[in-house]
Amino acid sequence: MVNQVTMVAQQLQFSELVQGYWRLAEWGMTTQQRLAFLEQHLELGITTIDHADIYGGYQCETLFGEALALKPSLRQQLQIVTKCDINLCNAKYPQRRINHYDTSKLHITESVNNSLANLQIENIDLLLIHRPDVLMDADEVAAAFAELKQQGKVNHFGVSNFAPAQFDLLQSRLDQSLVTNQVEINPLNFEVAHDGTLDQLQMKRIHPMAWSCLAGGDIFTGSSDQHIRVRETLTEIAFEIGADSINQVIYAWIRCLPSKPLAIMGSGDIEHVRLAVAGLDFRLSREQFYRVWVASKGHGVP
Ligand code: NAP
Repeated sequence: MVNQVTMVAQQLQFSELVQGYWRLAEWGMTTQQRLAFLEQHLELGITTIDHADIYGGYQCETLFGEALALKPSLRQQLQIVTKCDINLCNAKYPQRRINHYDTSKLHITESVNNSLANLQIENIDLLLIHRPDVLMDADEVAAAFAELKQQGKVNHFGVSNFAPAQFDLLQSRLDQSLVTNQVEINPLNFEVAHDGTLDQLQMKRIHPMAWSCLAGGDIFTGSSDQHIRVRETLTEIAFEIGADSINQVIYAWIRCLPSKPLAIMGSGDIEHVRLAVAGLDFRLSREQFYRVWVASKGHGVP
């Protein structure tokens, strides 16, 4: 069973494994199957749900909302995270000429209103600014957050893919702590462990949320030298610790990080999710952690 984790000394508990819905539109599930998939996660203790307005070209929140509407009482068991600030240029918004970012108060507010309608919920537990916007006016974002909080539309706020200075800038204008920085962490790319991002979060005792822990599935299939080295090392370690699958080793490797990231899983296959849950007790030694590090970098530690 998946444990609950307290986020930054606030009245907010997340499950240590999070269900990510970026790929929901690709899974070809009926509304009833989407509901069953959600309920299977809840049975495992996975109560935290990660969305973004743009997932599936703006479709995924709606697909999820339709399923939740079949059993609205489930809402109270869930913590729903969603994101805003990426403006996609697609069939829904043909007037846009390029993809771009927008952290204006108007856009944040409109995006939240759309997400609430699409998800068919009254409030969002955690809203993230999806990607850093070089035009971000932190005072304006703070004003948007304050209004959304006051209106009861959003309970908590955080960021995603922010550098430490960007995180500090936004935090400096807010009355309440940012709850997380959601960042990419996997054995092929763990730049955030080296560029100060995870150090900052550990210092503040903020849990990161880790996206694409399995590198979007590339770890299983990629054919570069790095992919092959990492996969071979993960397979050796799986044998050493008695794991059934390298995905269990990858989540254990991420759990080694002292900032204690919450892993977001992107799987549409409940058996892959069950494997991850079954592996929650696996622990790696420091040497095993660094064998993956070395396999990824292609050289020993300095
Ligand atoms: P991921 O877990 O790295 O990748 C999921 C993919 O890996 C799926 O296609 C899945 O296929 C495959 N997979 C999983 N277990 C497998 C196994 N044992 N064997 C073979 N294939 C396996 O996650 P992700 O989807 O890239 O990202 C996870 C979540 O992070 C997203 O849903 C989203 O919520 C969030 N995210 C956030 C950002 C951001 O900028 N904040 C960016 C990207 C993603 P199956 O469906 O067959 O299991």
